[in-house]
Amino acid sequence: MTEIVQVKNPATGEVVDEIKRDTEAQINEKIEAGYTAFQTWKKTNAHKRSELLGKWSSLVREHKESIAEVMTKENGKPLAESRGEVDYAVSYIDWYAEEAKRLYGRIIPSHADDKQLEVTKHPVGLVAAITPWNFPAAMMTRKAAPALAAGCTFIVKPAEETPLTTIRLVELAHEAGIPEDVLQVVSTRGSIAGRLFTESKLINKITFTGSTPIGKTLIKSSADTVKSVTMELGGHAPLIVAEDANIDLAVQQTIVTKFRNAGQTCVCANRIIVHESIVDRFAEQLAAETKKLKVGNGLDESTVIGPVINKGAYEKIVEQIDDAIAKGAKVLAGGSYDVDDEKGYYFIHPTVLAKATDDMLIMHEETFGPVAPITSFSSLDEAIKIANDTPYGLAAYFFTNDYRTGTYLKDNLDYGIIGWNDGAVSAAHVPFGGMKESGLGREGGMEGIEAYLETKYVSIGSLLTE
Ligand code: NAP
Repeated sequence: MTEIVQVKNPATGEVVDEIKRDTEAQINEKIEAGYTAFQTWKKTNAHKRSELLGKWSSLVREHKESIAEVMTKENGKPLAESRGEVDYAVSYIDWYAEEAKRLYGRIIPSHADDKQLEVTKHPVGLVAAITPWNFPAAMMTRKAAPALAAGCTFIVKPAEETPLTTIRLVELAHEAGIPEDVLQVVSTRGSIAGRLFTESKLINKITFTGSTPIGKTLIKSSADTVKSVTMELGGHAPLIVAEDANIDLAVQQTIVTKFRNAGQTCVCANRIIVHESIVDRFAEQLAAETKKLKVGNGLDESTVIGPVINKGAYEKIVEQIDDAIAKGAKVLAGGSYDVDDEKGYYFIHPTVLAKATDDMLIMHEETFGPVAPITSFSSLDEAIKIANDTPYGLAAYFFTNDYRTGTYLKDNLDYGIIGWNDGAVSAAHVPFGGMKESGLGREGGMEGIEAYLETKYVSIGSLLTE
């Protein structure tokens, strides 16, 4: 029997669309089709692959407005952010369309007179991707574009909350001339996709963006067939404001990194760590700016903060806020909710909590919501200790105009991405990814395509003997 999934608008609870789940047999057929298509796509020359990616990018640009609207309806983010995400998603296609033409090998100077040592690069094969709901366009193109550029075929399972954006992007890729079996989408539950993808001997690589616990299960189940994995997992970003920082800039950039997508980003600041001499001033200013952020339906152009994705997310965030208040945190902004359980929408007013302490849940768990807990430090080493005291290592931010302070912080923070006086660090041409339990590998930049390539070394001997 065909299973139907309703995609709902998290701002209203209304049904946006219905999609059919693929059966396991249909998913296995798609895997086989992707494997067969790989035999041809890998031989399609790099300039042709680049050209097709370029056409895909143009079509996505052309349909930017309608894609942004679909994204806002299924994800809840404000329209301006959805438009920004379409641009960001396209920037990965553009970047890797160019990188396709630069998959150079090399000749290594030989240790013997009669040998030539060659290194060449080859696509890993059929790639399976599982993506999250918080960036339904960019998390897909950040994987698909380098995979296709490298000569891999690609099959993606988007989150069930937000499949529509991905489905539309895949349709446009086909319209651009990328063969249907080269880029496919499947609709199913995560657990089923995880099992079928990792068990399949036809799939050579798993690329996942999502939570750390699910990432760990995928790493374990990929071991049986020794698949290559790329894991973009959770974060718990610290944001340090040093004694000499420009407070206006630090507040403005904290708003940028903390409240984008209603705080539902893996790189959003989760712990604000401010020097004790300026913490009260910083907290007051941050609260005053936070109170100006308009909460509402993302389809309203004046909205800055949309709903959180679902009830489970809402409950986790409220638990962290309640726990912090019970342990002595002071609410300087927000701390209120607009919720309708029956309709199914959950808005959290952006919240600033002063006097956060180490015993609070929020200082140790990823929040994934619009809550900014502020704590203080007296020495740089103390700030670094607080910042690094987590299994996560994705993004960290700090604000200082003193090069010695900045150099010390960047050298000692155990994070894959660092923003120094900068709260908006993402771009297609830079490596994105985390240390520790935030992931394995990098996406974006020249590192991002390496994940889809195998290295072949050939030693050609007896060159002088014939
Ligand atoms: P999630 O629960 O891990 O879900 C992500 C994807 O995994 C969804 O497509 C989901 O499918 C699927 N999934 C669920 N259970 C699975 C299983 N057992 N096996 C295989 N796949 C499974 O994460 P989320 O709550 O959607 O996203 C938020 C998390 O993603 C946060 O921790 C955030 O930090 C992280 N994130 C990281 C990055 C990064 O680049 N590092 C970027 C964005 C988000 P369903 O549709 O069935 O749920």
